[in-house]
Amino acid sequence: MSAAAKPADTLAGVIEAMQALNTPDKAFIDGQWRASHSGRTFDNYSSRDGGLINRIAACDAADVDAAVASARAAFEDRRWRGLAPKQRKTVLRRFAELMEDHAETLALLECLDTGKPISNTRGFDIGAAINTTRYYAEALDKIYGEVAPTPEDRLSYVVHEPLGVIGAIVPWNFPLHMAMWKVAPALAMGNSVVLKPAENSSMSALYAAQLAVEAGLPAGVWNVVPGLGAEAGDALAHHMDVDMITFTGSGPVGRQLMRASADSNLKRVSLELGGKSPQIVFADCDDLDQAAANAAWGVFYNQGQVCTAASRLLVEASIKDAFVEKVADIARNIKVGDPFDPATQFGAMISQRQMNTALDYIEKGIAEGGRVVAGGRRVLGDTGGYYVGPTLLDDITPDNVLAQEEVFGPVLSVLTFEDEAEAYRIANGTVFGLAAGVWTGNVSRAMRAVKALQAGLVWVNGWDACDITSPFGGVKQSGFGRDRSLHALYKYADLKAISISYKV
Ligand code: NAD
Repeated sequence: MSAAAKPADTLAGVIEAMQALNTPDKAFIDGQWRASHSGRTFDNYSSRDGGLINRIAACDAADVDAAVASARAAFEDRRWRGLAPKQRKTVLRRFAELMEDHAETLALLECLDTGKPISNTRGFDIGAAINTTRYYAEALDKIYGEVAPTPEDRLSYVVHEPLGVIGAIVPWNFPLHMAMWKVAPALAMGNSVVLKPAENSSMSALYAAQLAVEAGLPAGVWNVVPGLGAEAGDALAHHMDVDMITFTGSGPVGRQLMRASADSNLKRVSLELGGKSPQIVFADCDDLDQAAANAAWGVFYNQGQVCTAASRLLVEASIKDAFVEKVADIARNIKVGDPFDPATQFGAMISQRQMNTALDYIEKGIAEGGRVVAGGRRVLGDTGGYYVGPTLLDDITPDNVLAQEEVFGPVLSVLTFEDEAEAYRIANGTVFGLAAGVWTGNVSRAMRAVKALQAGLVWVNGWDACDITSPFGGVKQSGFGRDRSLHALYKYADLKAISISYKV
């Protein structure tokens, strides 16, 4: 790596380091920085103040072809999958160490790129990406095959083989973290990867990919092609030499990816899509203060731009008014501000477009009967940044647009129920099924809820109470892929069944 890529720990230092490396306007293909084939770039704006940060390479089909060819060559000559597991493990562990050495740079880059608070990128995002990489590094030499029961003149066994070239397409809400949920297990299994980061947040993945090469990952095994979804993403999805697309993002794009697979080479598709996740608070909850804190932070964390955001709050009628007041009090006291201020708890939304989407949804929700209890409007507008205050709306009915559609912003909708059956009916009454939460002191009720709720993740008396060790993904139109845990590792492998006959 060049001297310019030494870890930088100030914002000015990070910008200087990125400029010196000249990475943002290049793709990372075959272990090298390359301008897009067409020479085109697109502008990358700061959500903190609306200013231009830099220009990013606008890769298209020609660049994707080059990246896939590089990934395929690396797969065919076995420069990565052919290494002994302990060698691959050493490289991925070293990569995690390098990310740790550069954690402050990566945290500043993500804060700059996304507008999320620096306390979050320092305290969560980058550490989670590193932890994910370590988890799969440690897992890769614990993958065993099977021996089938056979007659004695035959040995039949089953092995897990890497799929080949994996196309990973990720969103902007947790840029490096989401990328590593896919890249780390895919690499651990011995695959090659072509990653397409989201338009608004390409920098940390570009930065990390060169660290991986420095750690010893052979050139071509992990390529990064920044670009627009309709160009670079679409080219990856339609590519005839990509074996799988692993995706996190919106439902409409997920549908396009399945169509692209059907129209090309029937590549596998793994989809993790949106949600409209409910938290249900029963009157018998033991700790209503804790439930209120989770109701607020379950949706306001990351400015509500979380696929599992607990955007529907279902409260039992007898405690509704008092409980809503507790949540509103938290919402009103959240410190909204400059993402680079370490005291900021809640920063800017990713883009003007996303901010306007949230504001439009609030307006529609009000028009359909919702009542604003906290927030409800743009704040800090004089900065030029894209800030929407933590918003709480009461009187939302199950057919209100805010009870049905994903906002992907800091908007919490309160619905009321009278009994358990009604609570589950409302909770399950959307097209989504990503996460669901229940607050109750009654263990039998908790167990009934766990069975009744249609969701890939269910949390009782806690929210987001899980980590890399549990699978993450949804049911219904929240998709069907699973990230995290050993289940995600096996997703990037095929089973090969082998039988050897011999004379006894
Ligand atoms: P998006 O679907 O617009 O974009 C996601 C990625 O897909 C980006 O990299 C984008 O460039 C790419 N893309 C866009 N159009 C494409 C096309 N035609 N072909 C190929 N790729 C294309 O979503 P977003 O706005 O980045 O993220 C927000 C959405 O993602 C929300 O709906 C949210 O719920 C969902 N999300 C889900 C999870 C999860 O784990 N289930 C996690 C984070 C975000």
